[in-house]
Amino acid sequence: MDRSGAAQPRVVVQKYGGSSVADVSRIREVAARVVQSVQAGDSVVVVVSAMGNTTNELLELARSVSPNPGRRELDLLVSVGERVSMTLLAMAIQDLGVPAVSFTGSQSGIITDERHVAARVLEVRPHRLRAALDSGAVAIVAGFQGVSRSGEVTTLGRGGSDTTAVVLAAALGAHHCEICSDVDGVWSADPRVVPGARRLDELPLDGAVALAQSGAKVLLAEAVERAREWGVELHAAATARPPGSGSRLPPGPAPAAPMAVTADAELVLVALEGADWRAALGALPGGALRSVFVESGVGKAILDMRNLAAPPPGAEPTATLTVVSRQVVSEPLLQLEALAALDAAGVEVFGVYAAGERWTARVAPDQAAVGQRALHAALVER
Ligand code: ADP
Ligand code: ASP
Ligand code: MG
Repeated sequence: MDRSGAAQPRVVVQKYGGSSVADVSRIREVAARVVQSVQAGDSVVVVVSAMGNTTNELLELARSVSPNPGRRELDLLVSVGERVSMTLLAMAIQDLGVPAVSFTGSQSGIITDERHVAARVLEVRPHRLRAALDSGAVAIVAGFQGVSRSGEVTTLGRGGSDTTAVVLAAALGAHHCEICSDVDGVWSADPRVVPGARRLDELPLDGAVALAQSGAKVLLAEAVERAREWGVELHAAATARPPGSGSRLPPGPAPAAPMAVTADAELVLVALEGADWRAALGALPGGALRSVFVESGVGKAILDMRNLAAPPPGAEPTATLTVVSRQVVSEPLLQLEALAALDAAGVEVFGVYAAGERWTARVAPDQAAVGQRALHAALVER
């Protein structure tokens, strides 16, 4: 209630990914979906990604100018992608007769550390967003970016708009945060790859964290971790469907039984021999180092290519398949079933490692899809 006794509208945060704002007609569709929420009585904060493949194109442009562009300039460059989509979406919403104001990450009060290209959000001061909402406008925020205490524009790592949405939802005390994409929620495997996959209507946050950490692109791991830490109610939904549909991610432990299978084929493997790897790995942008383990007596590290400008010398492309299930991690017979299913599908396994609720096999990138289907059929569909 405000001082006049009127009920305050609830705040909701909606995030739209790159494919959802890939062209002008899709931006108009997003505008209409946002207006639906406004008409339902919500105060809406919208976080947008760059249009389609814009971020990759900007990075390529930088590399066509310089083989090793500085990270400060890179951040200023790629932050432009999200600024384009935020302004166009504001215009499209205004055209529907609803006031909308767009803000960069810096204008939204998203304060980060100084680590260019892989910055961490330290604090959010959303005064201007609150003022926009109080005036009855939709606040549109450029995802994936913030500003450091020294006033430099920073970006949060690839896929970072999900993190923007969650930190804003926490700072504004939003009712919930909806991550809208080209799929209608979180599925038991990538629905584009596994025909037998099913949508998880309700997925406890611990399970969502495990899924995101093992490469299910639909949610960024850091965003889900922060939602869990700060008690943000997270939903995953399709941009093409009305608000309120999709998967809900309530707090809680993942079910023990095999719940989902993920594949991640955008990885490289490096052997930790010879060179000064402690220094080399320590210098990587945040989020790039995925895991360190020993195979055949040799220390190895898996790195995420999405957050590396170029693979380190000697790196080989690799992929991981992960079954999200505490039961599989603790029951050798289920692990045997998983390995037998991969073997029957002709997938060669180079190594296995397990922790928490994740059982992971390392395979060749071109076998990731067939391996994901085989594990899903053997462990989730049975
Ligand atoms: P956005 O651009 O909206 O951020 P992303 O491409 O990052 O979208 O993530 C959406 C994609 O994630 C889907 O198109 C789907 O192919 C993929 N994906 C992988 N694993 C899953 C899963 N378990 N559930 C849903 N989608 C998944
Ligand atoms: N545009 C950025 C990327 O492509 C951030 C995002 O989409 O979330 O990684
Ligand atoms: Mg994404």
